[in-house]
Amino acid sequence: MVPGVRLVVLGKQGAGKGTQCVRLSRHYVVPHISTGDMLRSATRSGTDFGRLVAEYMHLGELVPDDVMIKVVEHRLDQHDTKNRGFILDGFPRTVFQAEALENLLNPGGLDLVLDLEVPTEVVLERLASRRVCSVCGTIFGIDNPARRGAICDHCGGELAQRDDDTEDSIRRRLELYASSTEPLISWYLERRKLAAVEGLGPAERVTSRLIRAIDNRRQRPPEYPD
Ligand SMILES: [Zn+2]
Repeated sequence: MVPGVRLVVLGKQGAGKGTQCVRLSRHYVVPHISTGDMLRSATRSGTDFGRLVAEYMHLGELVPDDVMIKVVEHRLDQHDTKNRGFILDGFPRTVFQAEALENLLNPGGLDLVLDLEVPTEVVLERLASRRVCSVCGTIFGIDNPARRGAICDHCGGELAQRDDDTEDSIRRRLELYASSTEPLISWYLERRKLAAVEGLGPAERVTSRLIRAIDNRRQRPPEYPD
């Protein structure tokens, strides 16, 4: 086990990014910082900040850059991330956020930005088959189908498709992701920080590929490319 690493993981919805971040965070013993989870838990916290976030989400808008940067800055300032590192999931989303992150991390910067690649047709199928328990929130899909059809394995609750999980709206979300992430990917490429990793196949195989890419980079810093 090799502890300590500073990573960003990019990947479209349905690429298995959350699963891989959890596995990597165990391997490197660093916190998995999901800005999506942080925002969702903020909306339940009853604070002013939570109400602000809820408003943006309700309007279907992205939380503005300056707010996101403050949230991440606060989290990166905690003891665990300062000493050991982190895996960032959901941030940065824009070049502006990426620049802010570089400034926050100075000196040192990121070890690597991983782009988890899965073909659009594959994630479309995964997302369109997704069913969510209306009681406990467990998510079922192609990779983990519910054993009793439309009934939750854990609590017996009714399973339903999310309103925004229709093929059309999934396609729209994926296109939006691609267009907004392209500049970010080029930005990290230019800085020799990006590694694209094939995201197809069993989760443990994908994790091994990611670990290989990360450990390679840590042995050979980008200042000395071959
Ligand atoms: Zn349930």
